[in-house]
Amino acid sequence: MEEKGNKRSFGGLKLNTALLQVLERQGYETPTPVQQRLIPVLLAGTSAVASAQTGSGKTLAFLLPALQQMNPDALPVTNHYPRLFILSPTKELAQQIFEVSMPFVRKLGFRSVLLQGGGKRNEESRKLEQGVDVVIATPQRALEHIEARHIDVKGLKHLVVDEADMMFDMGFVSYLEKIFGMMTERSQKVIVSATITPRVVKLAKAHIKALRRIELDPPGKIADSVTQMLYPVVKSKKSALLAWLISSENLKRVLVFVRKKELADGVAEALRAWDYKVGILHGERMHQERRKALRAFREGEYQILVATDIAARGLDISDLDVVINYDIPHVKHDFIHRVGRTGRAGKEGIAMTLVSPEEIEQLKDLQKVLGSKIKEVILPDYAPKDVKSRGYLMQPPQRRRRTPKPDSKKGASSPLNKKGKKRKTTKRDGFKILDASRKTEKQNSRGKKRK
Ligand code: AMP
Repeated sequence: MEEKGNKRSFGGLKLNTALLQVLERQGYETPTPVQQRLIPVLLAGTSAVASAQTGSGKTLAFLLPALQQMNPDALPVTNHYPRLFILSPTKELAQQIFEVSMPFVRKLGFRSVLLQGGGKRNEESRKLEQGVDVVIATPQRALEHIEARHIDVKGLKHLVVDEADMMFDMGFVSYLEKIFGMMTERSQKVIVSATITPRVVKLAKAHIKALRRIELDPPGKIADSVTQMLYPVVKSKKSALLAWLISSENLKRVLVFVRKKELADGVAEALRAWDYKVGILHGERMHQERRKALRAFREGEYQILVATDIAARGLDISDLDVVINYDIPHVKHDFIHRVGRTGRAGKEGIAMTLVSPEEIEQLKDLQKVLGSKIKEVILPDYAPKDVKSRGYLMQPPQRRRRTPKPDSKKGASSPLNKKGKKRKTTKRDGFKILDASRKTEKQNSRGKKRK
């Protein structure tokens, strides 16, 4: 299967036969760049802080070297004690890591447990008592079990903190500090973060002596496979524009990001009023509700998922054609995480961002982080009056596109009629801005080449 010594193959990364067999069985053919960089460093026993985005294959990058180093042959079968601890900020992410790790853990004869707030504590304690090798947990619940002496961290050989910057955003750093403080110096510690922020570096330096820093994805980089568009819009028309875009572009699976939980509920309600099947993902929903919403979206039962940044960070939702930013996030790097949900694994993706005049300053800041301007699409029925011809970012005037009036014979594309009542979307809702904008882009690039 693999060519020895070549880092572009799993075999070349010096993974053992058992792990290679599972990789093959699971259909993983070649290591991702994150795996190529991280696996050899971690297999050598080095502690590291690494930047890696969701969708980059980071879970296997930190999991496989730890499992391999745990050496199942040296394991007394009757005495399973935790040697690998993986901490994740959200229950959903912990669950995701648990599922990805399961086939590898089983193959090596290890046992693993998932500990998460909202889970059944007694059941968790019973599993810990029976003996486990791998613990995947949210930090608060992990600490509860440690303090109750259900887990002895002194024997821990490997600690992984995933999505470290999000741990800070969610106020979990004191739990991390305590857990780090309990570990021996010799244990391998790996901190993975979408962005290596100064506070992540501070945490790493405080607890890791020989630290290797591995920057994998330069922050601020959005994949070239993502076509981005910016829609100037009057604030009160955002929901209508959102519904209109989904129907007129015939978008099948849409992840809509909003800043606040209250807004997530409001936007979902507005979309439901137009007969869309919508799930909601935010921190105040019960764990079961969040799981249900995520599953229903993954399985196509919900066409739209409305999520806050924190609730959706780190989740692997594959095959997304389009991400819509209902607003500009507070934390600018969240914009990159949002948009990174589409255009993965070499596929084309689309990111649409709705911006009202109130957000113009945030938009300017965002452009600085991105280092490039997003193409504006002016829809006269939705755009504020003052930007109808030139756009927010003073790009050259674009050809005006008239959005069809709801009652026009040519095609009633808006799911709203004039009285604001819902109506069923129809197949005639085919106003292909995306195609038009792609064509213009191609024409522009041809024009540039000619020059
Ligand atoms: P992660 O960044 O760990 O959340 O992984 C994102 C997705 O990539 C998961 O669905 C993995 O199953 C998948 N994945 C991880 N490594 C590879 C690989 N080497 N080849 C193809 N898919 C992969």
